Amino acid sequence: MYKEALNKYLETHGLSTFNLKAVLFDMDGVLYNSMPIHADSWHVVMERFGLHLSREEAYMHEGRTGAGTINIISRRERGRDATPEEIEMIYTAKAEEFNKHSKPDKMPGALDVLNQIKANGLKIILVTGSGQKSLLERLNRSFPNIFHEELMVTAFDVEKGKPNPEPYLIGLEKGGVKANEAIVIENAPLGVEAGSKAGIFTIAVNTGPLPDKVLWDAGANILFPSMTKFSKQWESLRKEITQSN
Ligand code: CA
Repeated sequence: MYKEALNKYLETHGLSTFNLKAVLFDMDGVLYNSMPIHADSWHVVMERFGLHLSREEAYMHEGRTGAGTINIISRRERGRDATPEEIEMIYTAKAEEFNKHSKPDKMPGALDVLNQIKANGLKIILVTGSGQKSLLERLNRSFPNIFHEELMVTAFDVEKGKPNPEPYLIGLEKGGVKANEAIVIENAPLGVEAGSKAGIFTIAVNTGPLPDKVLWDAGANILFPSMTKFSKQWESLRKEITQSN
């Protein structure tokens, strides 16, 4: 079922084998159903500062650094980059707006697939643009005994952020694995682009409102409509990956 996508990946990258050792997980929109709150917070705060960013457009920028998103909108609507002060103000206001909401729920299916992957003996690496201070504590409450500090890439580790492949390349380095020894799980176009540009087999999980096409166009190798579906298909996908050697 997935053989074609796997073979195409190997062929594109001039590889003969796939040797799965690690799975790199994005966080927002993959592990937590946090994107509706992020998109709403961006929209509301931008309006407050006289800038316009629809909720749907916010999904297109998902994964970018806060400064990156603010600059794109500022250039479009004011013809210039935002000043460091503006970036600080808008980003702080966005974080405050986000925190007014109750904490986002775990994505249905996420814990189940994480437990399966752990039981398979594969490394689980987190690759997020988030810079929350107490991230690991929170992850440990939601997903006990899955994540480890040395296998996490956060906003503090990266300079460029998605869609640059940098975060995923750092993830491979932290995991001590090569591109053909890992897969990426992503929900956003820019995140899929980053995983794909890092040369990693990238699985898109479309948990938001964007059409599947934007995820395919960003370079997705396989697409699932939900984390629950991905979780249910994991064992058969893993077997096909293992057999593709
Ligand atoms: Ca995401």
